[in-house]
Amino acid sequence: MLNLQHNFDLTAYNTLHLTSHAKSYVILNDKQQLAELTALIKQYPKYFVLGGGSNLILPEFYDGLVIHNQLYGKTCHDDGESYLMTAQAGENWDQFVAWCIDHGGYGLENLSLIPGTVGAAPVQNIGAYGVEVKDYIEYITVYDWRDGNTYNINNAECQFSYRNSYLKSAPYYLVLSVTFRLPKLAQLNCNYGDIKTKLEQLENPTALGLREIIIPTRRNKLPDPLDIGNAGSFFHNPIIPSDLAMQLQQQYPTLPVYPTNNPNFVKIPAGWLIDNLGLKGITRGNLGTYHKQALVVVNHGTATKDELIEFATYIQKAVLDNYHISLQIEPIMV
Ligand SMILES: Cc1cc2nc3c(=O)[nH]c(=O)nc-3n(C[C@H](O)[C@H](O)[C@H](O)COP(=O)(O)OP(=O)(O)OC[C@H]3O[C@@H](n4cnc5c(N)ncnc54)[C@H](O)[C@@H]3O)c2cc1C
Repeated sequence: MLNLQHNFDLTAYNTLHLTSHAKSYVILNDKQQLAELTALIKQYPKYFVLGGGSNLILPEFYDGLVIHNQLYGKTCHDDGESYLMTAQAGENWDQFVAWCIDHGGYGLENLSLIPGTVGAAPVQNIGAYGVEVKDYIEYITVYDWRDGNTYNINNAECQFSYRNSYLKSAPYYLVLSVTFRLPKLAQLNCNYGDIKTKLEQLENPTALGLREIIIPTRRNKLPDPLDIGNAGSFFHNPIIPSDLAMQLQQQYPTLPVYPTNNPNFVKIPAGWLIDNLGLKGITRGNLGTYHKQALVVVNHGTATKDELIEFATYIQKAVLDNYHISLQIEPIMV
């Protein structure tokens, strides 16, 4: 039985704390509700699935139906040299990472403490410290709102790329669960400055040890959405032609440049570009950039989507004018 609520306040359901209401809101916590929900959707001009709300830009009023995914459950299947770990989409991502390590399946530890749900993780192919969630996904089980069928989509079919996947442009798929193949033997993957140094200091480095290094590092670097509204990195790190990067490095010798799979293109840290313009820690009305990390846009008060976009446009223009690089917004605009 569905509990449909109207004029629902979503302000506490998005980590940017943008002031937002939805015409209607419903919790999905049992797969038996899917048939009823499929019929309900048809009564609305639009709908979207809400997870932890940590990668969303919500409008002041959403004239549609919000389906809040709260499907829970985890299973672990021994498959020889690896485990097949399956989590229902509503499971908290970080708790799932901890559970996998606890059960002897390794690889996800680099993605510790990323907010949100398991179901949203493949949508933008979450990544941190050299690992992307795609590296360990075996298949995704989706429900198709159009025909009411359930399908398994394998890793290749998801068309994963940097902070992107096929799912991002397929809103007719509801992610029901994600199945990961996790090796039993930990192969710790970490070449990131501070974290690498701390890992090397451990007498017996383990996946749990790496997780316990990453968690305080992230806490120190990024604002906690419980204290201050934010959605983590607000802009994608731009991928630009290598020759443009070389020209920029002549003007800005300390500009960091990272290789990509394509030798003609490199990745530039968007945070550096913003910081280098003196825009780290600035405040304009309700909005600003975080004082420790220029890439994070923070909501100090009661910002709306319009105010946020105005602030983002100001940053984008400054970057474009100075470096001829166009920054793309990372959170999904609803
Ligand atoms: C402090 C902070 C740090 C962060 N750090 C990182 C980081 O290091 N790396 C990184 O990649 N991201 C990071 N993020 C972004 C965010 O945590 C991830 O994108 C996360 O996966 C979003 O999960 P969510 O459940 O909150 O999704 P939501 O924000 O609720 O939704 C995101 C999108 O996924 C869709 N969606 C959600 N659930 C489903 C489902 N079951 N089926 C189909 N579609 C669905 C939504 O409709 C929406 O389009 C950070 C965010 C914050 C606030």
